[in-house]
Amino acid sequence: MNDITNQSLDEIIKKIKSKEISSVELTKLFIKNIENAKKLNTFVTTAFEQALDNAKKFDDNPNFDQLLPGIPLAVKDLFCTSNIRTTAGSNILNNFVPTYESTVTKNLWDNGAFLLGKLNCDEFAMGSSNETSHFGNVINPVGDKLVPGGSSGGSSSALAADLTPATIGTDTGGSIRQPASFTGTVGLKPTYGLCSRWGIVAFASSLDQAGPMTKTVTDCSLMLEAMSGFDEKDSTSIKKEKEKYSKNLKDNIKGLKIGIPKEYRVNNMPKEIDKLWENGKKILKDLGAKIIDISLPHTKYALPTYYIVAPAEASSNLARYDGVRYGHRSKKGKDLIEMYENTRSEGFGDEVKRRILIGTYVLSSGYYDAYYLKAQKVRQLIKKDFDDNFTKVDAILTPSTPSSAFKIGEKTDNPVSMYLNDIFTVPANLAGLPAIAFPAGLDNKGYPLGLQLIGKVLDEQKILNIAYAFEKNCKFNNEIKKWWV
Ligand code: GLN
Repeated sequence: MNDITNQSLDEIIKKIKSKEISSVELTKLFIKNIENAKKLNTFVTTAFEQALDNAKKFDDNPNFDQLLPGIPLAVKDLFCTSNIRTTAGSNILNNFVPTYESTVTKNLWDNGAFLLGKLNCDEFAMGSSNETSHFGNVINPVGDKLVPGGSSGGSSSALAADLTPATIGTDTGGSIRQPASFTGTVGLKPTYGLCSRWGIVAFASSLDQAGPMTKTVTDCSLMLEAMSGFDEKDSTSIKKEKEKYSKNLKDNIKGLKIGIPKEYRVNNMPKEIDKLWENGKKILKDLGAKIIDISLPHTKYALPTYYIVAPAEASSNLARYDGVRYGHRSKKGKDLIEMYENTRSEGFGDEVKRRILIGTYVLSSGYYDAYYLKAQKVRQLIKKDFDDNFTKVDAILTPSTPSSAFKIGEKTDNPVSMYLNDIFTVPANLAGLPAIAFPAGLDNKGYPLGLQLIGKVLDEQKILNIAYAFEKNCKFNNEIKKWWV
């Protein structure tokens, strides 16, 4: 039996369907890879026994008509999984075993996949480098000194290292797209409300969205199709017909109008990123798309707006972790108040505490109007910029990050420099728009770089199609040497 773990999900599915490989054999290959990749620190919890049971069940009674027939999948440890520990990368949820399944993971299992394990992430998804996790930092398979991006760094690293054929992450301000770009993979943040938030540990509820992380655009369309859909358990879920993204994937983009926003050319942007963007424009133009210069004047306020709105919502969402009903409870303290205080100070890490402090401050009486309310108004202006431009263009092309993967420890002493890494990704979250990051080249160190396409509300199919056409015509080669084995 050949090792097919380095192939795309789509190719693996073909081999399952043609019975070239069984689900049990496939699962065993991934388990072997995971056991050999402990150095990357991608897994917080494994579910090997359960996975092998499920694989056997599939092989005994296969249903090849499903979207993900007999496919083992590891997922970010922010998705609640029934009877499997879910930590959100935090000490405060170290011992939390949900009794229920998130809607998004349930949708994957209903389409034939099953759980392989839970992937490391920044604590409560707060971070851009997977260095804030209680379970230690994750290493990028691209290089042993490099961060894999964050917060879905366990997901991007596991995917690029062939430890799972595809995965899912969450994206509040870039946590799917930035780690995808740092590892040379594809990541899509759907329109707000396309994927249910039910059963996902909440960070900032008006921004959080789950989405696929995959090796190819075809895989991305398959995973999105499987995981999305209306859910009455999430009041912000969009009621609409389910789309067939994989079946409708097309590479003809002739005549489509692609906007290039001038505000994304930031100060001190490395030349390589500029070159990557220019090259991206050229590829799309050669494929028959029209390139149009546009302006999104309020983009410059997106990062400060995000770093008010997200911590504000986080401070409210994280108030529930008090040691009473579930999660870590401190044994110290002489009364209830001290128990709360000790639980939270032992349970949360520094970055989470920083966000709670910022969030509480911007919501406090006397500062609410100046910060939170103002940020909400600016958020509307940022959204309006996009609405105005989407009457003229079909999609917007930008770089996905201002740099390639940076070194472990490089930005941990300076939170603002870490936050700046989200500069190109947060606008789509603030405006609730779909955005896909896909590999587009390498920098002079040989590290992957990504471009991003932002689409109109619910226009996932179009940005998938453009990325698909791009992928076919971009000679991106991300050969990762397995130095960790
Ligand atoms: N890096 C951003 C933050 O720390 C985004 C995180 C995310 O999308 N979950 O807030």
